[in-house]
Amino acid sequence: MSCFDVQSFRQQFAFFTQQPSWVYLDNAATMHKPTAVIDAITLFYQQQNSNVHRGAHSLSQQATTRYEQARADVAQYINAKQAAEIIFCSGATAALNQIAFGLMHTVLQPGDRILLTQLEHHANIVPWQLHCQRHGVIIDVVPLTKDNQLDLDAYNQLLKLKPKVVSFCQISNVLGHIQPVKQMIAQAKLVGAITVIDGAQGIVYEQPDMQQLDCDFYVFSGHKLYGPTGIGVLYGKFDRLTELTPIFAGGEMIDQVSFVNTTFNQLPFRLEAGTPNIAGVIGLSAAINWLQKFNIVEMQKHKLLLLKHFYSGLSAIKGIDLLSSPVHNAGIVAFNIIGEHHSDVADLLNQQHIAVRAGQHCAMPLFSYIQQRGAVRCSFAAYNTLDDVNQCLLALEQAVEILTA
Ligand code: PMP
Repeated sequence: MSCFDVQSFRQQFAFFTQQPSWVYLDNAATMHKPTAVIDAITLFYQQQNSNVHRGAHSLSQQATTRYEQARADVAQYINAKQAAEIIFCSGATAALNQIAFGLMHTVLQPGDRILLTQLEHHANIVPWQLHCQRHGVIIDVVPLTKDNQLDLDAYNQLLKLKPKVVSFCQISNVLGHIQPVKQMIAQAKLVGAITVIDGAQGIVYEQPDMQQLDCDFYVFSGHKLYGPTGIGVLYGKFDRLTELTPIFAGGEMIDQVSFVNTTFNQLPFRLEAGTPNIAGVIGLSAAINWLQKFNIVEMQKHKLLLLKHFYSGLSAIKGIDLLSSPVHNAGIVAFNIIGEHHSDVADLLNQQHIAVRAGQHCAMPLFSYIQQRGAVRCSFAAYNTLDDVNQCLLALEQAVEILTA
């Protein structure tokens, strides 16, 4: 039994008192922000607003200190070896684009292979594809088993092709399935591959430990960790980051510039061109510092309780086709009402102020593979309650009645 106090946790979020009619089950898309995060951003803009790394005045120096402290906070949270391994960017998408672009100009050569999986979000497919097509690099894809889990035997077989890069999601944003990341990284390392982990959904599931995972790169977005939108993290081992060609060039990332040549700044600044999202960085570190006041393991247990309850309710509803497996699931459930369009189901839920997502969830190759047009997705966060789950189940029962009448 979980000893997590969901009601007092929920009180940390103004949204739930100001919009009490909503049941919010679209957490895999973005999460609500606690007052601690909103206050930190407001305070910065009201009292401290200034650019970083460049001002002659003390406001700028204070903003710089705050910004660099945030980098240290993130480094500590994910147990990076040093703060310079944390690159701030706009989100997981930006980070994956930087990695794909950066490696394609240095490490990857024509004829090399990259290994992705059938579960990937477009953000971990298209950036690679854009460059692979141009540079003659081949993409291989790990298939799924019958219950839509990653086929780990096939993964091992595909590793025999000696991919230079292996890039995969820690948790599927559609199905919620959790990959055995540590084991997969270790196996990829045996064939000398560079490992990239898309932690967009994983970052809120558990506190990741970079030194223990030993991946080369790990990316996530702040807004899926109770932080603001428009801010994310590209973690990379220091030596790996030095191999990346910067995707953006401009101010801050340079050392000397002339019209003949440019020399570059040291890490992390070399990969952070232009004025960064300072308020976003401050908001992200506020989220991380706030989150550490709670027991993440207990929060996860609470989410699993919601998941279990939702699954047993769903399986009692006639005509539900479950795409997600309850095994190795982080609290994201994709399903359909047989014969009905996912958007019609989501519309009916929306009419009752139940927020879910419907569609292909930026994972078209997965939907082609499992031969579905799309799905309804309910995703749980620690602030959701059993009452939220019950309301959703009731609304789904009514949706089945209405649609199949
Ligand atoms: N990867 C996964 C697994 C995701 O769930 C998402 C967001 N849905 C992304 C990448 C991209 O994140 P963002 O849109 O915040 O850049």
